[in-house]
Amino acid sequence: MSGIELANVSKSFDTTEVIRGVSLTVDKGELGVFVGPSGCGKSTLLRMIAGLEETTSGRISIGDRDVTRIEPAEREVAMVFQSYALYPHLSVFDNMAFSLRLARASKAQTRDMVQEAARILQLEEHLDKKPAQLSGGQRQRVAIGRAIVRQPKVFLFDEPLSNLDAELRVQMRLELARLHRRIGATMIYVTHDQVEAMTLADRIFVLRNGMVQQQGAPLELYNDPDNRFIGGFIGSPA
Ligand code: ADP
Ligand code: MG
Repeated sequence: MSGIELANVSKSFDTTEVIRGVSLTVDKGELGVFVGPSGCGKSTLLRMIAGLEETTSGRISIGDRDVTRIEPAEREVAMVFQSYALYPHLSVFDNMAFSLRLARASKAQTRDMVQEAARILQLEEHLDKKPAQLSGGQRQRVAIGRAIVRQPKVFLFDEPLSNLDAELRVQMRLELARLHRRIGATMIYVTHDQVEAMTLADRIFVLRNGMVQQQGAPLELYNDPDNRFIGGFIGSPA
């Protein structure tokens, strides 16, 4: 398992700088949350950590390794998105096994890893079903299962629950917290939802205009926001 460190990371699209000198650390086993309004750069930052977007400058490390110029597939990072396209013609089992097959894992190894992920995510009874036979929450769990079977060092979640209805979102939030406790992996969770941030995070990073405005444990930010924007955003009493 590894922590994540960003050192003075910036990103420009053409001439527009959307990430401006971000430095932060998420410790090994911690659940860090990036929170901030739409367009502040949360997804871009996450995509850079995953290697799906190049950095314009700065350094990204995972564990002891500088991964700034390393291919996504070599970073041992798994990303779960809001729109989790499952393969509709494949069973739940095969959806989860897909990346292991690509990695040429043995049949026995694949079965063990998929069953372990299914157990953690309470999908054991659904392994033979097709995605269309599942609820929204179950489908999202399959998407998370696909990430788990790869045994990544780091999990990155980009607003994974925002397509679910309110009740299911609460339920999935609890399940994600449970998952984090259970596998103890380093995770970064992106959301624009303050409640999600406050309840899930070990450490919150409040982003605004491509910069980290404040970071700290949820209660630190709530009790002692640096400014009105953060207080307002986190929901601190005025
Ligand atoms: P968030 O996830 O916080 O809503 P994003 O990281 O998606 O924000 O976007 C941050 C800024 O970067 C926005 O102004 C967005 O328009 C811009 N942006 C994101 N991706 C691209 C891209 N591929 N090309 C140009 N601009 C982009
Ligand atoms: Mg986004």
